[in-house]
Amino acid sequence: MLRIGPHLSFQKGYKGALLDAKRIGATTFQYFSRPPQGGKAKEFDDNDFNYYMANKDSFGVDNILCHAPYTLNPCSAKEETREYALMVFKEDLEKLEHFPSAMYNFHPGSSTTLDRDYAIKLIIDCLNKIITPNQKTTILLETMSGKGSEVGKTFEEIKMIIDGVLYNEHLGVCMDTCHIYSAGYDIVNNFDGVLDEFDKIIGLNRLKAIHLNDSKMPFNSFKDRHECIGKGTIGLEAIRNIVNNPRIKDIPLYLETPNELDGYMEEIELIKSMRGE
Ligand code: FE
Ligand code: FE
Ligand code: ZN
Repeated sequence: MLRIGPHLSFQKGYKGALLDAKRIGATTFQYFSRPPQGGKAKEFDDNDFNYYMANKDSFGVDNILCHAPYTLNPCSAKEETREYALMVFKEDLEKLEHFPSAMYNFHPGSSTTLDRDYAIKLIIDCLNKIITPNQKTTILLETMSGKGSEVGKTFEEIKMIIDGVLYNEHLGVCMDTCHIYSAGYDIVNNFDGVLDEFDKIIGLNRLKAIHLNDSKMPFNSFKDRHECIGKGTIGLEAIRNIVNNPRIKDIPLYLETPNELDGYMEEIELIKSMRGE
């Protein structure tokens, strides 16, 4: 079954997001655990959570994805920023443990002034501090565009992080189509070749989510500017080809395109029709 949905506001909690998802025909959604540029998270609300659990199946929604705030940077040169990353990870993961299984996506980080290998070591140290052997939540490393000093713009860097983590059975990868195209993976002309490379280096079994975005920026530009589906440099035909690739047919798709709810509804309709659903 096709899981597709947008990034939704979490202002009104799980219930509000679930109702929005239903209204626009989404079968999943992504939400921020807290304000993306920093700030306090909502308290966990049992009634809100119970509403979601009781209604998700009849609404046809599942596999929702929680996205960490952008301010979470486990490889910052500043110790207080690294401490903040640990605090956010702990708080967010504690809430997600209410689910029978959940997914938590984060940007590996920006190394700023640090050496890249040392930055990767800091990310590994952080994950080793927060992952517990019996946790139910899968933590996803997002593939990045490589803007600034971002870590995670190559499959090799992602693999280095995974290899350094003790309980790495709790790690997966979220592939962002806008980011990897900017990072120089040619998903327009050779999506299967990119999947082959992902499989060879990381293993396709680690791929748990796709951020389906078009891009405002050219191939290999190391820029991160999302565009609506079919309106950017990736384009409609490449998107059609991606969503119909049998190797990713069971992976949930999350739209992070510059849209309001109505625009998301149209894009969901479009992707469903491309898939013949
Ligand atoms: Fe992201
Ligand atoms: Fe993304
Ligand atoms: Zn992005």
